[in-house]
Amino acid sequence: MMSQWTTRAINEINADYQRSADTHLIRLALPAFPGIYLYLKDESTHPTGSLKHRLARSLFLYGLCNGWIEEGTTIIEASSGSTAVSEAYFARLLGLPFIAVMPASTARRKIEQIEFYGGRCHFVDSPCEIYAASEQLARELNGHYMDQFTFAERATDWRGNNNIAESIFRQMANEPFPVPDHIVMSAGTGGTSATIGRWLRLQGHDTQLTVVDPENSVFMDYWHNGDASLRSTVGSRIEGIGRPRVEPSFVPGVIDNMLRVPDAASVATILWLQNVLGRRVGASTGTNMWGVLQLAAQMREEGRTGAIVTLLCDSGERYLESYYNPQWVASNVGDIRPFSEQINTLLG
Ligand SMILES: *Cc1c(COP(=O)(O)O)cnc(C)c1O
Repeated sequence: MMSQWTTRAINEINADYQRSADTHLIRLALPAFPGIYLYLKDESTHPTGSLKHRLARSLFLYGLCNGWIEEGTTIIEASSGSTAVSEAYFARLLGLPFIAVMPASTARRKIEQIEFYGGRCHFVDSPCEIYAASEQLARELNGHYMDQFTFAERATDWRGNNNIAESIFRQMANEPFPVPDHIVMSAGTGGTSATIGRWLRLQGHDTQLTVVDPENSVFMDYWHNGDASLRSTVGSRIEGIGRPRVEPSFVPGVIDNMLRVPDAASVATILWLQNVLGRRVGASTGTNMWGVLQLAAQMREEGRTGAIVTLLCDSGERYLESYYNPQWVASNVGDIRPFSEQINTLLG
C-alpha cells in the first residue's frame, strides 16, 4: 500500500501533465534541398525549457512508484544543468528538497533557474566528478540520487504514452513524407535516442536513427567497439550531450549510424540557424542540425526526396554568455569560420 503522501504526489504530477500541451514540430523549408523536408521537434517550449522536462516527470514517477521517493526525501541529481532545472521544478511541485550536482562551468542561466525553483547547487570542478559527488551527498543526507544517466532509458515509456517518438509520428501524419528517412539526435543520457530507436523497431518503421556525438564523448567509440570501459578525461563542451564515460542509459543496439560533429561545427550551425529560424537554440541543437544537413546533402546527391526529423533541445537564451559570445567561442571552441563556410557551400 502506498502512503497518502505518495498517492497525492503521483496525482500532482499527473495533473501537471494534464495541464501541459505537446511541443510543436517546426517545418524548415530550405530551397537548397528541393523535395527534402526538415523538421525540428521544439522541446524548448516545455515549462522548464528543455526536453529534460519529459525525463524529470518520468524519473519522479519511477522513483515514487518504486518507493524510492517519499515524503521529505531529499532529491539529488548529477547533471550538466538541464535535467536539474526540470527536476527542481518537480521537486518544488511535491515540496521536496533538491540538490543539483553540476560542473562549475554550467551556464549561469541554468543555475539561476534551479535556484528559482528552490533547488540548491553543489559544484564540482570536472564533469567526471558529478557521479561520485552525488552518491556521497545521497549517503550523507540519506537522500535519493535520481541518477538520470542510469535510469533515463527505463523510466521512459518507450512503447507509447505519448512519448517523444509517438508524438513526432502523430505530428508527421499529414506531411508529404509521414515516415521520415532519418531521425537525428545527440546523446546525453542516451534516453531519447533509446526511446526513438525502440519505437522505430516496435512500429516497424523504415527510418534510420543517426546519433551525432560531439568531441570528448566516448559514445561513438563505444558504439563502434563495444568497450564499455572507455573514459575521457575532458568533459564535453556542448552542454547536455557527449559524456566522459559510457552511460548505462545509452543503448547502442537501436542506433543505425553515428556521426562525429566538431564542436566548432555545432556552434557555426546555431549561428546559421538563428537566421533561418529567427530564434536562438542551444549548441546541442546545432550538433543535431549539422548532422541533418549532412544527411540532406547525401539525399540530394542521390537524387532522393523525403523527410528528416531532429530535436530542438533547448533555447539559446541560456547560452548568451557562452555560445553566443564570440570571445568565449574563440577561446573555448576555436575558429568556427571553416564550418560556416561549409554550411554556405552546402546551401549554395
Ligand atoms: C539531455 C540533453 C540532450 C540529450 O538527450 P538525452 O535524452 O539525455 O540523450 C540534448 N540536448 C540538451 C540540451 C540536453 O539537455
